[in-house]
Amino acid sequence: MSRSAHPAGPRHADVLPEGHYSAPPADLNALDPKVWARTVGRDEHGVLTVGGIDVKQLAEEFGTPAYILDEADFRARARAWRTAFGSDADVFYAGKAFLSRAVVRWLHEEGLNLDVCSGGELATALSAGMPADRIAFHGNNKSPAEIERAVRAGVGRIVLDSFQEIVRVAHIAQSLGKRQRVQIRITVGVEAHTHEFIATAHEDQKFGIPLAGGQAAEAVRRALQLDGLEVIGIHSHIGSQIFDMSGFEVAAHRVVGLLREIRDEHGIELPEIDLGGGLGIAYTSDDDPREPHEIAKALTEIVTRECEAARLSTPRISVEPGRAIVGPTAFTLYEVGTVKPLEGLRTYVSVDGGMSDNIRTALYDAEYSVALASRSSDAEPMLCRVVGKHCESGDIVVRDAFLPGDLAPGDLIAVPATGAYCRSMASNYNHVLRPPVVAVDGGGARVIVRRETEEDLLRLDVG
Ligand SMILES: *Cc1c(COP(=O)(O)O)cnc(C)c1O
Repeated sequence: MSRSAHPAGPRHADVLPEGHYSAPPADLNALDPKVWARTVGRDEHGVLTVGGIDVKQLAEEFGTPAYILDEADFRARARAWRTAFGSDADVFYAGKAFLSRAVVRWLHEEGLNLDVCSGGELATALSAGMPADRIAFHGNNKSPAEIERAVRAGVGRIVLDSFQEIVRVAHIAQSLGKRQRVQIRITVGVEAHTHEFIATAHEDQKFGIPLAGGQAAEAVRRALQLDGLEVIGIHSHIGSQIFDMSGFEVAAHRVVGLLREIRDEHGIELPEIDLGGGLGIAYTSDDDPREPHEIAKALTEIVTRECEAARLSTPRISVEPGRAIVGPTAFTLYEVGTVKPLEGLRTYVSVDGGMSDNIRTALYDAEYSVALASRSSDAEPMLCRVVGKHCESGDIVVRDAFLPGDLAPGDLIAVPATGAYCRSMASNYNHVLRPPVVAVDGGGARVIVRRETEEDLLRLDVG
């Protein structure tokens, strides 16, 4: 097809404006399996399909925008983590990435545990039948009511995040006649993001108790004295979207160093360490994530080696992947509303959602890719910015991407790798209704989180 729909539009051969893109891909219709859920493909007409269902059908039945989640892929990724770590370790899915009752049931069935960090997440987990002893409760400011609820429910562990919380949880557990299993979250002075980590001065954050200055050792000392607590281990979470294992190496070294100090001072070996989550996924073809078995092997080797050096028996390891399980399993399906070419710059493609269903681009400058989904096209690539319908110029979904030059209103486009931190961070900005999550599996599709309605909005507005 020709580009006649937008004769004034910038051509890829023009001098391109600044941006986070490289040259246009050779084939705009190709779907890089790194960034798309496993059952995604194109049918003989070029329409994007997932689990054997084409997106035009999904859009018709469920509307747009919608998060389309590949259930088989979710289960496969959960299982891959579970299998990679084997029976000597625990995998806690980080519920904040995306949580719903269906997700809780899948996790339960696949043998994973679950991290929650609020009363709402705890309620969701319990209401979908996750056994309390497989739930870990996190957060830097759990309310007394949340702590009480978690202790009463019998959660497997509470991760203590401050000196005050040590006392608070001990007190609440004791008043309920219980002894709560706890881990102590420490900050090891490592902060990792994507390909790099920095190993100085990262105690300057709200989470955890710094290892520096003996504060973590003092926290353990205090916790060990309290009857309401059973200290089972040390917790460290160093960042997110990490590809480089060297940050975990330094973290494990420092956590094991603390275990050794604890053994030397108190004569006990804490039985568990948790190395957190943060493993990266591919948002674009430039990202190269590792497979769960490689991560499991690397982490297990690091901990084993460090413990041998410290002459400690190897503790039970746990990890907390969120994004790495759910992120790649979903894409957001949008309908194109307007296509606005800006001469010499780029073409603005407006969709029927935006920062209310994906805040990550605005919040973190996150990178995404995008594809024309309702058809294929042989038109020339056109440099685009996919934007939403909100009243903010920062309302950007995909900052820089190439789409076919014949893109037109009414086309469906899909943004892959939106399973994590998109629906869970969604808002009602501009009173836009939050999209549904549609799970597709084996040729069937069903809503697992329904679309918000104006009635939902008005129900909260009681003035
Ligand atoms: C956010 C978080 C995770 C999960 O991070 P991902 O990047 O989604 O893997 C795990 N543990 C803790 C403590 C977290 O705060």
